[in-house]
Amino acid sequence: MNLWTTEIREQITYIKMAAWEALGVDAVFSGRPGGGSLPPYHSLNLALHVGDESETVLINRARLLEILGASTRQMVCCQQVHGTRVQRATRSDAGRGTLEQSSAIPDCDALLTDSPGLFLAEFFADCFPLYFFDPARRVVALAHAGWKGTMGRIAEKTLKEMNRCWACRYEDVKVFIGPGIGSCCFEIQPDLARRVAEEFPHHPQLLRRENGRTTWDLALTNSVILAGMGVKPENIQDCGLCTSCHPELFYSYRRDGGITGRMGALIGLRW
Ligand SMILES: [Zn+2]
Repeated sequence: MNLWTTEIREQITYIKMAAWEALGVDAVFSGRPGGGSLPPYHSLNLALHVGDESETVLINRARLLEILGASTRQMVCCQQVHGTRVQRATRSDAGRGTLEQSSAIPDCDALLTDSPGLFLAEFFADCFPLYFFDPARRVVALAHAGWKGTMGRIAEKTLKEMNRCWACRYEDVKVFIGPGIGSCCFEIQPDLARRVAEEFPHHPQLLRRENGRTTWDLALTNSVILAGMGVKPENIQDCGLCTSCHPELFYSYRRDGGITGRMGALIGLRW
């Protein structure tokens, strides 16, 4: 059963984790349509660091937050570096990175919080957003899992930090895996395939070899890591959407040749 839905409001298309909304959590992933950015960033680009006009990006951000009944002052952003550093965000971090990239939390790829009204925000074009929610401890987290973050087990590090900060139990935690580059499109070179096979020796299904090309299933790899930590399989929801396969709906760093916009992933606890 799909726990998520696709919504269109004010011309903005976004994915919403509908099953969590009833539990007081907003978790969304913005699509590409409905914004004001011009090519090659058209149109709802939410990232300030990709060369787009900052004023347009700020308007795009404000419009998305307005749909959520919130303001950009409630967002907290980090300077994602494809690393595995995880940081707890508090109310005093609200607004960091929302009006300018320089104030975003540096060198960080996963954020967590128990503060209601704070929206953790990260930006994506092929890497996978991992949304975490512990309904027992009222904690949310968001991780940026591209291939480097996946190999570095950022999913595991995020869970461990949730446990360290709030004693979250892995069997309580729910995870939503948003859109990213699917195994249909994520072709990798033999040396990386070898590293994946070494890192996950008991899971040959993560790599697919066909017609001389090797593809890697990043979403499944993150599911394997999460399940290995004790997250219940029924608490892991993978939306299964490939960013590269849907140019009308998503930016894709690979497909678009590196110069493109970013979708936004946001998660926040309601007041
Ligand atoms: Zn694809």
